[in-house]
Amino acid sequence: MTNQQTAGIYLHIPFCIQKCQYCDFCSFPRANTATVSQYVDRLCDELRLRAPSAAGHRFDTVYFGGGTPTLLPAAQLIRLLDTVRCHYTTDIDAEITLECNPATADETTFSELRAAGFNRLSIGAQSFDDGELAALGRVHRANAIESTVVSARRAGFDHISLDLMYGIPYQTPASFTRSLECALSLNVEHLSVYSLIVEEGTPFYDRRNALPLPDEDTLCAMTEKLLLTLEQAGYHRYEISNFARAGYRSRHNLHYWNLDDYLGFGSAAHSLLNGERTGHSRDLDAYLRGVDITEPEELLTPDAARDEYVMLRLRLTDGIDKALFFTRFGADFDVVYGQRAAPYVRAGLLQDSPDRIAFTSEGFDVSNTVLAQILYG
Ligand code: SF4
Repeated sequence: MTNQQTAGIYLHIPFCIQKCQYCDFCSFPRANTATVSQYVDRLCDELRLRAPSAAGHRFDTVYFGGGTPTLLPAAQLIRLLDTVRCHYTTDIDAEITLECNPATADETTFSELRAAGFNRLSIGAQSFDDGELAALGRVHRANAIESTVVSARRAGFDHISLDLMYGIPYQTPASFTRSLECALSLNVEHLSVYSLIVEEGTPFYDRRNALPLPDEDTLCAMTEKLLLTLEQAGYHRYEISNFARAGYRSRHNLHYWNLDDYLGFGSAAHSLLNGERTGHSRDLDAYLRGVDITEPEELLTPDAARDEYVMLRLRLTDGIDKALFFTRFGADFDVVYGQRAAPYVRAGLLQDSPDRIAFTSEGFDVSNTVLAQILYG
């Protein structure tokens, strides 16, 4: 990494009130306070111990994800942030994000966190329909989303993101439209909107044949509605599933899509540092005992890094800047991938110019298939 490049730090807080029906994240319900305190101690140990490996890196984003980080008392979150700042070089204007679920923090807590330096909130709203929230196994109800946003605003958070889902059991185009309208009425700066994926190992997967999921045509109609509504409301689609007002893209997630270095701390967290991937297992007990050290997972060869960069960058509407690609990989994009990309340019799925290549809106709908052909076809 050159001095000009910056990196991100991720802290995983794997605790939730209860497990949602679709969740395959590393999260554990109903942890007691002793376990949570012990986990915070281990995280601080890990932050301290791994700091020498990041000497020379500058961090411009810190992201507390989960799980539900706001289940931790504010004092513990602030202790973690202070530990990061003590051992790592962080920018004065670093983006410091906290994931939060509705009704898990009040205005007083938000005020303490804001004063300590947290400056971005990502709230897991998912839907504004109580029936859909219940079907997902979410603990909160729709009215808690608005009160959480209002409390955060009063506490001074001026960069708030909401997560929404579509393709939820029982969801209809009309109920999805209502959820979009409710989200827009809260006037947030950023929206992440994902379609539900029924992952193996979840309660939804066990009931997959009985789930009343919207069909493909309904999903397509919802996608169209989503894109039109958010564009009209002034949100720019800058990534397949992410939409932002000008100046409010997620800088942390952009590190992932740019294949930048990042350090992940805590159970199940992964890191990419100087071309090497490392990661923790999902074994919470092992992490709490301090025996779960990060294990090497993969050394990215130059070719693998180049392919991965293409895969990640094409998730962005900005796509790939060919001059930057050449500077980074010493290879001409058109020479390496041009022939395999050409049919998709002709089909209108990719927009290609001498400077840049990116998916069109139609291309995003089939991006996995196209990428597989471009990279390995
Ligand atoms: S709140 Fe998020 S991390 Fe927790 S169980 Fe639900 S989906 Fe999983």
